[in-house]
Amino acid sequence: MTRFDTFNADGVRRLYEVTRRVSSSADLAEVLDEIARGVCEGLGYGVAAISRLEGDTLVMAAVGGDDAVRDEIIGRRTPAEQVLGREFSIADHWGILRFVPHDRLPPEQISSLWVPDLAVSDDPTDWHPLDALYAPLYSSTGTLLGNMAVDLPPQNKIPNQQQRELLEMFVVQAGVALENAQRREQLSRQVKLGEALKQLALLSGTLEIEPALQEAAEALYAALPVAQVTLRCFADNVDDPQNYSAGMPSPASADDDTVAGVRRDLVGHATRGRLRPLTLSLRDGDFADLESAPLLRARLEANGWTHGLLAPIGVEREVLGYLVVLRDEEQPAFDPDEVDAIHEAGRELGRLVRDVRLRRTERRLLAELRELDRYKGELIATISHELKTPLTSIIGHTELLEEAGVHPGSVSAIGRNAARLDRLVSNLLNYSRIQGRRELERVQLDLVEMCRASMEMLRIQAENAGVTVELCGDTSPVLVVGDAEELPRVVDNLCSNAVKYTPRGGRVEISVSASGSVGEVSVRDTGLGISSQDQVHLFSAFHRSTNPAALTIPGTGLGLAISRTIAELHGGDIAVDSELGVGSTFTLRIPLATP
Ligand code: ADP
Repeated sequence: MTRFDTFNADGVRRLYEVTRRVSSSADLAEVLDEIARGVCEGLGYGVAAISRLEGDTLVMAAVGGDDAVRDEIIGRRTPAEQVLGREFSIADHWGILRFVPHDRLPPEQISSLWVPDLAVSDDPTDWHPLDALYAPLYSSTGTLLGNMAVDLPPQNKIPNQQQRELLEMFVVQAGVALENAQRREQLSRQVKLGEALKQLALLSGTLEIEPALQEAAEALYAALPVAQVTLRCFADNVDDPQNYSAGMPSPASADDDTVAGVRRDLVGHATRGRLRPLTLSLRDGDFADLESAPLLRARLEANGWTHGLLAPIGVEREVLGYLVVLRDEEQPAFDPDEVDAIHEAGRELGRLVRDVRLRRTERRLLAELRELDRYKGELIATISHELKTPLTSIIGHTELLEEAGVHPGSVSAIGRNAARLDRLVSNLLNYSRIQGRRELERVQLDLVEMCRASMEMLRIQAENAGVTVELCGDTSPVLVVGDAEELPRVVDNLCSNAVKYTPRGGRVEISVSASGSVGEVSVRDTGLGISSQDQVHLFSAFHRSTNPAALTIPGTGLGLAISRTIAELHGGDIAVDSELGVGSTFTLRIPLATP
């Protein structure tokens, strides 16, 4: 026979057809079918079977030749190790083909083979029914993607060199087809996963955990080929005393022991910095050293799930719940893109749960604060009112007693103490009133006038205390707009504090000025001064300096709190500059009246 005679024109034509289809078709099943049929019809093999590697399993994807054989073996799953490992290790290498002669096969393996109905011949060049010829299918980068098996070669003869070379060309095309399909699938999976993660990110800002979890479960279920998605969020604190769960295709249920066990495991892993999703597999019994493995295994077995991923729902190392995706035997192992996506989904959901909880806690605290504030105001108002009435009567009767000639020492003691209580009550009333006030009366007021009135009010007190009070500097009017009742209270308070906390022989200098759009009243004394620690809390209600000398002087610690609130209601503020043992300067700043 000449080389020309053996040239297989039909085979080459089919190969050309196949090559065209491989580069143009997007339908993998169709292309693999074409290749398998091409090997049978073009090269004359009785059977050509192409299987795809899914995880560690070879899945029969296309069969050319006899329809009955096709129906028998299509979809068949074989552990990859059996063919690619054990059989290849005893095979002859024919280029990229692997030939396992019948007499080399271990007997236990024969039972799992498809064996053609073919008579055994004595001619060593004849094909034996137990001979096996395979070709591993590789991607261009050398990744194993599947396997092609052929049987019943032309004329039932062991293929010659030229036949092998032609077969190799079909094999290469099958590899390219699988690689193209794998790329397409990977791309579409990445797109789907990306969309699912985007959907999860859009859930942020939600107020309710459960519907958000359900939506997330639906998004993941749509993006991943899985049999079950379960999301669970553990009960937390007073604001969230509930376990939440969601799942697809139906909401998840699990007994308390399993949930608690998984929680302990995930918290343990997270503490050790292991936050990546954990693999669960019935196939190789891998349960990532989880203590809850027996419980999980039972659930997987009961539901027909064979493998899955378990990821914490959490923020940094805090585990707030878990996310589990499960597959059955028919479904492939999880690839690294999917593991990354589940990891990211766990973190995204962690942020979501934490944010919802923070907002809840915030809302609760705010409500509690409002309630406390209302209660405090009510309490102060009630107590002050209840004290004020009897005090007025005591003071009145004290005056009568004095006139009637009762011991003047006792009467003045009663009067002094009643007056002190009266000041406390008045301050409490002012404080409570100003806290609740949002609107002020607005009239034009002169800050210089206000200071003169305060000095007049304090004249006798200052004389008795031996403290000089002076209005210094420019005394031309400085006009502001304010409340004629509240604003003078601030100036009174600053001036009376200066006199009160300045020992005999000291000085108080009051000055008024306008600078830019602001009017200032500055009250400077040569008194006790205030330590920098005390200055921090000076304007808080009921705060009094810790300085023992200041504490011997009667006071309520309310004056400055009231004054600052009034100043702020006027759009101004009060500043302090003080040094312990040297003196203090309090400055009230109020926007000037616009001319
Ligand atoms: P009260 O004087 O009734 O205690 P304030 O709120 O007016 O309440 O003042 C708070 C505290 O600030 C005072 O108790 C006092 O210790 C300190 N203080 C206020 N003004 C001065 C001042 N001019 N010099 C020294 N200490 C002062």
